[in-house]
Amino acid sequence: MDIYCYFCALLTLPIDVMFLYTDFSTFLKKYFEFKVQKLSVNAGFSCPNRNGYIGYGGCTYCNNQSFNPDYCTGNRSVKEQLEDGKMFFSRKYPEMKYLAYFQAYTNTYEKIEILKRLYEEALAVENVVGLVIGTRPDCVSEDLLGYLSELGRHTFVLLEYGVETTDDALLERINRGHTFDCAAKAICLTARYGLHVGAHLILGLPGQAAEQMVEQADILSDLPLETLKLHQLQLVRGTVMAREYERYPSDFNFLSVDEYADLVIGFLERLRPDIVVERFTSQTPKELLIAPDWGLKNYEFVALIQRRLKERCTYQGRLWKGRMD
Ligand code: SF4
Repeated sequence: MDIYCYFCALLTLPIDVMFLYTDFSTFLKKYFEFKVQKLSVNAGFSCPNRNGYIGYGGCTYCNNQSFNPDYCTGNRSVKEQLEDGKMFFSRKYPEMKYLAYFQAYTNTYEKIEILKRLYEEALAVENVVGLVIGTRPDCVSEDLLGYLSELGRHTFVLLEYGVETTDDALLERINRGHTFDCAAKAICLTARYGLHVGAHLILGLPGQAAEQMVEQADILSDLPLETLKLHQLQLVRGTVMAREYERYPSDFNFLSVDEYADLVIGFLERLRPDIVVERFTSQTPKELLIAPDWGLKNYEFVALIQRRLKERCTYQGRLWKGRMD
């Protein structure tokens, strides 16, 4: 007897009409009728997990230099950085509009008057149509959320929280300075203020088994999250983790591309289907990266995940146990 597999039948469809996972550009199309590009901004913030307000030494994996494009330096104004970024993209895409991405360090860790000035400076730049603000879950106040919520009535505002892992022991080990409960509460509060809310998660942290990494999808699916960025653990020069690796290399197990792709697929299968997966990987500049050196661009990894999902007749949320309201 032939067993008919509905999902195998989907294999005959072009990849872009199959549902594999919810991607970021589909999400942006819900809010904008034009092309939108994020532009990173370094507004010169500091980090409370370095200066002693929350902790010293920072998160063990963090070297902020690794995610700062060349045009972003804290010495140039927000407006100047955005104008530089626009110039870079507008040659190829003159119609493009932009989201100012406050990325470096902790972008809500300042007096509210200063935050307002910097966010509004970004929004005053021509063709900037919204804000994306990366921060820690223990650095948002209801005053700030109230203000952002007001802004969000007229413009796009997304808060991205560094969650990194749902495991408290691991959060302590990497010196994050907050618990998972703190992250969950910040996400719920931000959603209650009607703001878009996202999270970052690192897969491959030392001491976490693959099954535990995948189980985090169940936990995150229960939160009112709209977007999620996954990152492979990267060992970056100049970090506390790089020193730990020198002393205890056997504590680390850097995943191969294939192992990481399998992990991502297992994770996606259990993730609520409407959570937007903005990234699967990050790319530290080669001169700063110690391991793993996959030599793969982000878009190449996306293509690999799409191909594997299709080959395995699977998709985001296939094993999710919840129910959409
Ligand atoms: S990851 Fe963020 S919170 Fe952690 S040390 Fe770096 S800037 Fe600070």
